[in-house]
Amino acid sequence: MSGITTRRQEMVREWLEEQGLDALLVSAEPNVRWLTGFAGEGLLVLDASGVSICTDSRYAIQARDEAPDAEVLADGGHLEQAIGRLNADGVGRFGFESAYLSYASHRKLCEGLDEAEPVPVEDKIKRLRAVKDEAEIALIEQAATIADRAFVALRPMLPGMCERDAAFELHRLMVKEGAEKPSFDIIVASGPNGAKPHACPCERRISEGDFIVIDWGAVVEGYCSDCTRTVIVGQPDGRQREIWEAVREAQLAAIAGVRPGAVCREVDEIARGLLRERGFDREFGHGLGHGVGLQVHELPVLSQRSEDAALEAGMVVTVEPGVYIEDWGGVRLEELVLVTQEGHRSLTAAPYDL
Ligand code: ZN
Ligand code: ZN
Repeated sequence: MSGITTRRQEMVREWLEEQGLDALLVSAEPNVRWLTGFAGEGLLVLDASGVSICTDSRYAIQARDEAPDAEVLADGGHLEQAIGRLNADGVGRFGFESAYLSYASHRKLCEGLDEAEPVPVEDKIKRLRAVKDEAEIALIEQAATIADRAFVALRPMLPGMCERDAAFELHRLMVKEGAEKPSFDIIVASGPNGAKPHACPCERRISEGDFIVIDWGAVVEGYCSDCTRTVIVGQPDGRQREIWEAVREAQLAAIAGVRPGAVCREVDEIARGLLRERGFDREFGHGLGHGVGLQVHELPVLSQRSEDAALEAGMVVTVEPGVYIEDWGGVRLEELVLVTQEGHRSLTAAPYDL
């Protein structure tokens, strides 16, 4: 890990120099992990002389194990230790992550600093994290494979199960296949519950004729996968088939548009336009997809609000159009796709049959 993290730290140092900043205070945990390998709670101070993890006794051993090249401070409050480090080093202007530092912490920071001047920076590390290296891609792919296998094992058990049991069984199967844990609370939404894109699994029993939206993912060494399938118990009726096929067609067209340089908003529009033509305009309310990595939702965002953001080789994104109809149910299909130099490569192998 340490060769990779050293390279990442160097990237940030170069950027800090361009910005005229002496240091960066990192407070988003996935960013701390990406820069050092440390997966516990704490803050990070990065400057020209090195990196310091500011944590506490609960994480001291873990931090030294996971981030052998970092200085580990574990004697006091996280923020107090970070302030001490910034003051001792005579830092001038330094960046802090304005999206990930609370108002209360910011106040405390300003009160405790001697000479140092905090400058808000937005999402710099998050933007760097959007492009994955080979080791990261391998872990995401491994997580996706585990999730695929667990789903295939779950599928025949679904009839007669209640949603909550199905979610629990899928969780168990993923851990059995080698996952650390699910990458988010698994969604199993049957029948009319499928109309809620982020439904909570309930006591409802899965029965004949139900569409079931299952959205799940695994974590391997901190890296997430994310996948959705919509399946049926029994045979679909005409409307179910029509809507499922419309969503699948929109998804395939959007996946075909994934390549370096493609504008995220335009990839979203490929799927949205096709569903609009079929009369499903308001029924597809959320964005088309999102980046996946140390977090299940990260950059880039594929939606109408993505402004001019474009895809780059090495990004891993989901393509997940859906149609949701109140009192009827929903269909969502989600594929995990790697952007390659040539275009894209799918990381998901879970079958698509109804
Ligand atoms: Zn998902
Ligand atoms: Zn997703």
